Amino acid sequence: MNNTFAPTPLADAAIKQYAPALEKGSHLVVIGAGAFGGWTALYLLRSGFRVTLIDAWGPGNSRSGSGDETRVIRSTYGANGLYFDLNVRALELWKAHQKKWDKPLFHPSGVLWFCYEEKVDLIDASLPFMEKHGLAYQYFSRKEAQARFPQVFVDDLDHLALDPHGGYLRAREGAMAVKEAFVREGGGYHQAMAKPGPVRSGRMEFIELNGGTTLAADAYVFASGSWLSSLFPEALGAFITCTRQEAYYVGVPHRYAALFDTMPVWMDADGRDFYYGIPGNAGRGFKIGVDLRGPAFDPTDGDRILDLDVLAKARQFLGHRFPWLQGAPAG
Ligand SMILES: Cc1cc2nc3c(=O)[nH]c(=O)nc-3n(C[C@H](O)[C@H](O)[C@H](O)COP(=O)(O)OP(=O)(O)OC[C@H]3O[C@@H](n4cnc5c(N)ncnc54)[C@H](O)[C@@H]3O)c2cc1C
Repeated sequence: MNNTFAPTPLADAAIKQYAPALEKGSHLVVIGAGAFGGWTALYLLRSGFRVTLIDAWGPGNSRSGSGDETRVIRSTYGANGLYFDLNVRALELWKAHQKKWDKPLFHPSGVLWFCYEEKVDLIDASLPFMEKHGLAYQYFSRKEAQARFPQVFVDDLDHLALDPHGGYLRAREGAMAVKEAFVREGGGYHQAMAKPGPVRSGRMEFIELNGGTTLAADAYVFASGSWLSSLFPEALGAFITCTRQEAYYVGVPHRYAALFDTMPVWMDADGRDFYYGIPGNAGRGFKIGVDLRGPAFDPTDGDRILDLDVLAKARQFLGHRFPWLQGAPAG
């Protein structure tokens, strides 16, 4: 295995720190085949462990966080240097693996920020990390932006900033591709609902699977996303709450389709209702996401029906920022 695909020294150090007693060849079970569980299982396998990956409904299923068509991938999260470093490494891995698997998963569309003020903390606080990694933003005045992005209404903005290194990932397909690679490389995958088993002397003895069977291993990694608080209510109930968050797909009028399909991912940095969007989406339309925490939500049994009040506000924003999309159908 060449160096790009091998675990980094940081990953090896983490395994030594958190699982010091595990010999290479030990049997590990990862519960959850989303972005976190899938990659964790693949890299544990590549680190020399025997690994079983389990998911209740399959990698990238529609109840999971990794189950939408697309997800933005960007390094800029304000003063969070660790996040920036992790994202740079993640991008490197997605690019290397999509080449290896001959499957386009990362779309380097860039990420375009709509900036209302001269200074935007979220971007400015990341500048030292950009410098460290040799990455730079491109800045557009209103006039320049109008010529380059005629589909965007810019009169109420101070400027636009483009991160040319980010873009979007095919999320559902990515989760499935990781699981397929994991199986090809020798991992075992089972579709089953798992429940933590009894813990004695600090060790979980086994996990229970639906159908009444059990599975024992040397260690278990619960990468179960929004379900973690219900699996471990005493330890995590107070820390993890699954909440609703809306995203819509909008039908772009045919004459503007090419212009919207090829535009960068966009983020509206007005600091209140944080709207963002992604083009493409495997033909489903132009996505607008509302990055606000909604009410608590049950990821297993909750209905996924649009909230018409949130949609009405999102539509108002969309019609303002992208006048050619006024009244466009959403779903
Ligand atoms: C609307 C929305 C928009 C987002 N946008 C972005 C974005 O643009 N960019 C970004 O980087 N992040 C984004 N995120 C966050 C990102 O999607 C998540 O952080 C990520 O997908 C979580 O991955 P995960 O593997 O932790 O969880 P999940 O993908 O939810 O995976 C958990 C898996 O565990 C399985 N599971 C759960 N319980 C059990 C059990 N008991 N037994 C067996 N299997 C079980 C589930 O079926 C599921 O497949 C967004 C999230 C949401 C909700």
